[in-house]
Amino acid sequence: MFDCHIHSTFSPDSKIDAKDGCKKAIEIGLQGIIFNDHLELDSPESMFNEAVDFEERSKILDELKKKFEGRLKIFKGVEVGVRPHLIKDLNLIIKKHDFDFVMSSVHDFAGSEDSYNVGTYSYETKEECFIVYLNAVYDAVKNFKYYDVIGHIGFARRYVPFENKSMKYSDYKDILDAILKTVIDDGKGLEVNSSGYRQGLGTPIPDYDILKRYKEMGGEILVLGSDAHQVDDVGKNFDLVKERLQNLGFKYLAYFEKRKPVFLTMD
Ligand SMILES: [Zn+2]
Ligand SMILES: [Zn+2]
Repeated sequence: MFDCHIHSTFSPDSKIDAKDGCKKAIEIGLQGIIFNDHLELDSPESMFNEAVDFEERSKILDELKKKFEGRLKIFKGVEVGVRPHLIKDLNLIIKKHDFDFVMSSVHDFAGSEDSYNVGTYSYETKEECFIVYLNAVYDAVKNFKYYDVIGHIGFARRYVPFENKSMKYSDYKDILDAILKTVIDDGKGLEVNSSGYRQGLGTPIPDYDILKRYKEMGGEILVLGSDAHQVDDVGKNFDLVKERLQNLGFKYLAYFEKRKPVFLTMD
C-alpha cells in the first residue's frame, strides 16, 4: 500500500523529518509514500504564509529516492488549500514545480478572517456548517481543475464543536452528488483520509457511505492517506480501511507518479 498524504517538516505544522517518514514507511511495510506538503496562500493561519521552498524539498526528496531505492517509492506531492480568489496564483505556482501529485483541499471556508478551526465555531448547527463547507468544496471542484484528487471531503468534521460529528451521505445528498459527479466527469479522484480514526470520528474522511455512492456513480480513482504530521501516524489504520473498502467492492487503490494514477490491486 501507499500512503499518499504525509506532511514533512516543509509543512509548518508537521514534525516529520522526511528521512524518518521514509524509514517508518519501510518499517510498517508500505510500498511507497507521497510527501504532500501544504501550499496555502493568504491563509488566516499566519504560520502557513511563509512560502515553502519546494525546490529545496525536491532536492532532498531526490536524495531520499536514491537512498531508499528498491525499498520504498517516494513521490513529490502538494496539498493545495483552495479558495476562489487564489486559483490563478495556485495554478501558476503548481506549474512551476515538478509535482507528481496535486491534492485539492478546502481548509478555510468560513470567510478569510477566520481559520478553519475557529471558523467552524461560528455556526449554530452542524448542518449549517457542513452546508457552507460542502458548497466551498463544490466551488473548488468547479473552478480549480489543476488537481488529481480531492482531499478529505468532510474535513469540517474534525473541528465542529458538536458531539455528533458525522457527515452522512443521506443528509447532504444533493450537494455531495454534485461534487462527486464533477470529480468523476473531470477524470479526477478522491482521497480516503484515515485520520478520522485517530481523531475519534470513528470513520475515515469521507465516511464509507459517501465512498459507496462514489463507486455507484462510477468513481474509480481512490487514494489512501494518513495525513500524518508525526511519524507514528504514517500508514495508521490502513488495514482497517482497506478491508472496509474491499467490502464496498473497491478492487484497486491508486497512487500518482508525474500526475498520472497508477493502480494497485488490494489483496
Ligand atoms: Zn488537509
Ligand atoms: Zn494534510
